[in-house]
Amino acid sequence: MSFALVALPIPLRHTFIYRVPAALEATCVPGAPVTVPFRGRPRRGIVVERVTKSAVADTRELTAVNGPPLLDAHLLALTRWMADYYLAPWGEVIAAAMPGGQQGLAASRARKGAVEDPIVTLGLATRITLTREQASATRAIEQAVRARRFAPLLLQGVTGSGKTEVYLRAAAAAREAGGQTLVLVPEVALGSQIVREFRRRFDRRVGVLHSYLATGERRRNWELARRGALDVVVGARSAVFAPLPRLVLVIVDEEHEPSYKQSEQLRYHGRDTAVRRAQMLGIPVVLGSATPSLESLANAARGKYRKLLLPDRVDGRKLPVVRVVDMRREGAGTLLSTPLRAALAARLERGEQALLFLNRRGHSHHSQCRACGHVPTCPHCDIALTLHLTPSVWRCHYCDHEETARPTCPRCGASFMRLSGAGTQRVERELAQAFAGTKVLRLDTDVARDHAAPAEVIRRFAKGEAPILLGTQMIAKGLDFPRVTLVGVLDADVALHLPDFRAAERTFQLVTQVAGRSGRGKTAGEVIVQTCTPEHPAIAASMTHDLATFARAELAERKEAGYPPYTRLAALLLTGADEDEVERAAEAMGGHLRAASGDDVIVLGPAPAALAKLRGRFRWHLLLKGADGSRVREVAAAGLDWAESKSRPGGVKVAVDVDPTDVL
Ligand SMILES: [Zn+2]
Ligand SMILES: [Zn+2]
Repeated sequence: MSFALVALPIPLRHTFIYRVPAALEATCVPGAPVTVPFRGRPRRGIVVERVTKSAVADTRELTAVNGPPLLDAHLLALTRWMADYYLAPWGEVIAAAMPGGQQGLAASRARKGAVEDPIVTLGLATRITLTREQASATRAIEQAVRARRFAPLLLQGVTGSGKTEVYLRAAAAAREAGGQTLVLVPEVALGSQIVREFRRRFDRRVGVLHSYLATGERRRNWELARRGALDVVVGARSAVFAPLPRLVLVIVDEEHEPSYKQSEQLRYHGRDTAVRRAQMLGIPVVLGSATPSLESLANAARGKYRKLLLPDRVDGRKLPVVRVVDMRREGAGTLLSTPLRAALAARLERGEQALLFLNRRGHSHHSQCRACGHVPTCPHCDIALTLHLTPSVWRCHYCDHEETARPTCPRCGASFMRLSGAGTQRVERELAQAFAGTKVLRLDTDVARDHAAPAEVIRRFAKGEAPILLGTQMIAKGLDFPRVTLVGVLDADVALHLPDFRAAERTFQLVTQVAGRSGRGKTAGEVIVQTCTPEHPAIAASMTHDLATFARAELAERKEAGYPPYTRLAALLLTGADEDEVERAAEAMGGHLRAASGDDVIVLGPAPAALAKLRGRFRWHLLLKGADGSRVREVAAAGLDWAESKSRPGGVKVAVDVDPTDVL
């Protein structure tokens, strides 16, 4: 008798065994989509392994094989690794790897003649002369492709240094070697220059995979990739699963981008999975960024990643001059400082354009002293305390430390002010007062509710319809407006004091990326950063584009406070409609985790999440921290085992996040 282990897309972290009837012997192979009886009804799943013995006395019979394998041995191994690493059900990982998500398991693919090429031809390749550094980075990647062994390469290039050109040449070399290239880009970059360039150079041999595409089109590109009809696949996070039988090179652009992390349902990191995929295949992976993550910088410092540097902008263009304006010296309540008003006036006079960037996170409220800039932080966790108004307390969202909110600053005695990011509308009003009659375009989440609207706003600004574009994170990257010579960061402190250990890193990245939008044409650019904490290393270093100094200071802080990359984290999130029930379950979970943690894993919390209520559900979380990642995952798994047992309160859902990026 023979049996098959089947992974089902259900929230249980194990596989299920079925007997294979003789008639299905030949087709019931690993990777094949099958139908099996499960709890009294048919369910679709994937065969992950054939075995000869079953420990179950009365093993039920597999019902049907629904087509040829959907995953090859490599993708089965990759999804298996993800399931183990991220403590996720293998069946759910496989479902996420399908082009149509869960429904993907249902479809049988490889219908002959059904495949059409959706790519529009856009003209011939242009010849561009590489800078010396671009040429040497390209050579290094080409050599790694030819050597066909795992090589993680960190391509660190300032904004405007021509990283895209290096990617294009490397992918061309991979094609010449008969191989395929996978290019991951952040979600926001899918309509951008980099995708257009790949389409231009690789013509019909490039396919784009992303979630906005209709399922049919995604399946078509997926199928083209699987058949080897594409040389390049460009896509966001989930394209990491693209079936590429001749894959020889993986590129992750803007590798520091938080959007690579999926923080709902299947919680995984697209960049880390891409690195793992390259390692499993024994091929090079290029991680590119102007502001690499501290994890990648630490890996480079340890010699695990090889660093390729692009220190200058192309065509001899200069990096913009960054000026920091101390808002403690400006009038209370004003959003546009005197220097920023003067700089804007100069642009209007010269007919140049300006971007104004306002970072806004609605659910975060920290206190900040208006006189000295002091922000109260948790004595245990070294993150900003969040102000709660009824009762008036400061609370830590990692460990639940709480203290009475004071009206005056312990450092200088002045009165505190509550700081909640100002809205774009308020800025619009101030602009209207200062520059009557000047047209201002706005791009924020309100505008973006309509899917087509952001592209339209960007098109109008690029055409020069308005001299000023005011926006949120959405304008921070990927955009290239040659007439923009001024970028204003209206409130750098909002990002800096989020209750998140990565707040400083994100601020440095954000300011540097936004600054990178300035001066991409012939005129040198200027950047004005408004802050109440100009002395903070993240702000000070962005003034001089000094990544090395910032990274050194921030890595030392992380080491001191015991955060990644020096420790590994896992978060357990409990949610439910009944607040008391969630709290009780979180307390009980804390007990189970502490029992399993020994002395090498620290359990923080439970505490209400900073985002304490979302869509009618209350949220509590616990944070695990330890030097050994596998021990951290072991303890988290013990918590999940308890959650999956029958003893926990029924209305509470438990989710785990291994290597969380937003600990909010
Ligand atoms: Zn003060
Ligand atoms: Zn704390």
